Amino acid sequence: MTYEDIRNELREFVAERNWEQYHNLKDLALSVSIEASELVEIFQWRNPEDINDEDRQNIKLELADVLIYIFFMCDKLGIEPYEIIKEKMEINKKRVFKF
Ligand SMILES: [Mg+2]
Repeated sequence: MTYEDIRNELREFVAERNWEQYHNLKDLALSVSIEASELVEIFQWRNPEDINDEDRQNIKLELADVLIYIFFMCDKLGIEPYEIIKEKMEINKKRVFKF
């Protein structure tokens, strides 16, 4: 599946529900953050070694939610997700990280 396939499937999903009216950059950015919170909630008050198969399934689904909203934002901005990852990684490679 290519990025274009995913983008087209997401566009169809939104169009079928007439949700374009809600898909502005502010609300999409909020949704990325909300879904990221749902992801970290799985780990809240728990030891990472206690994560079980059900948790892994939920982690997978929340990661998908985060990615879906990121893809919606990229589509709205007319940018290609893999291109911006490449661009940012070039910046990161030149950085000196101090720990
Ligand atoms: Mg979710």
